[in-house]
Amino acid sequence: MNTLCLSAADPQAAPIAAKIIREGGLVAIPTETVYGLGANGLDEQAVAKIFEAKGRPQDNPLILHVARPEEMERFCHHIPKEAYLLAEKFWPGPLTIVLPARDIVPKRTTGGLSTVAIRCPASEVTREMIRLAGVPVAAPSANISGKPSTTTAQHVLHDHDGRIDAVIDGGACSVGVESTIVDLTEKPARLLRPGGITPEQLTEVLGELTIDEAVTSQIDPTKVVKAPGMKYRHYAPAASVVIVSGSREKAAEYVHRYFEPGDRVLCFEEELPLYADCDPLSYGRESDVNTLSAGLFDALRILDDPQIHRVYARCPEGGGVAYAVQNRLKKAAAFHIVDAEAAL
Ligand code: AMP
Ligand code: MG
Repeated sequence: MNTLCLSAADPQAAPIAAKIIREGGLVAIPTETVYGLGANGLDEQAVAKIFEAKGRPQDNPLILHVARPEEMERFCHHIPKEAYLLAEKFWPGPLTIVLPARDIVPKRTTGGLSTVAIRCPASEVTREMIRLAGVPVAAPSANISGKPSTTTAQHVLHDHDGRIDAVIDGGACSVGVESTIVDLTEKPARLLRPGGITPEQLTEVLGELTIDEAVTSQIDPTKVVKAPGMKYRHYAPAASVVIVSGSREKAAEYVHRYFEPGDRVLCFEEELPLYADCDPLSYGRESDVNTLSAGLFDALRILDDPQIHRVYARCPEGGGVAYAVQNRLKKAAAFHIVDAEAAL
């Protein structure tokens, strides 16, 4: 199969991609979070192709993308007022809401669950494609399962060239980490995955928010969990990743003590001079956390090289978007964190 590469700037991109979706094909779509691998979310056979292309476990549900917030009512029922409040404030945008699914949503899409995760993405070309297709588009991140997510069309082609029908190239994703997922089927609402919409922003609207344990700790893969995607190892390059916490100086001292040939350092731009002799890679500025979220997956992909043995990574502290960066990096590290202050 020849994978068609469509430019988001081309007025024909949305109509061509919409036709592929209607005919049951796979289109990788740009969004503000990461590139998704999309198919007609109401067509079981089309959805099955997503799982096959990604090598994704069948019980890991997909997110249903809609062109307009009002479409939530077509696919969900028993919608609490909080869902409308969140949709009004954060859609189109990087927030996914989990609600009870209507029967029209196939079990393939929901991974067998009675709930569905729904989102209205910000990307204009993607929303236009969904509108023209006339069906909701089910899409997980477009990476091969377990690998760092895709934040450019080049990442998508690296993983799927010749195996999917098309990709729409909309440039690099602005947020760079997957959407925030909030489950509104229980009270208080539960944060299943942090992202570009922060816990602080959600709490402002919802009053109360429970943080699921899958956000902050390694989950036993045999356990039944609320967010099935969170139990699998994720976002990981081939090398083992170790997060080194503590002050700049102590962390650099720790890394220099244990660094061996074949290791790499993933750090903030401000820290590059401290690791000049360790072949460091920066993923953004500590002083601007949005550059870290936008740069994280590209950096993890560069480090996904069998020659690299270990990656010592620096992780931002605090809440807001830093909370999402911490979550992805900790998962990539399988929660292997050393405190340089205590270890030295
Ligand atoms: P991805 O964006 O590739 O990580 O895939 C979609 C994510 O949404 C996965 O982590 C899923 O576990 C999560 N998800 C999708 N549907 C549901 C649902 N009904 N309940 C909880 N989590 C969901
Ligand atoms: Mg994913």
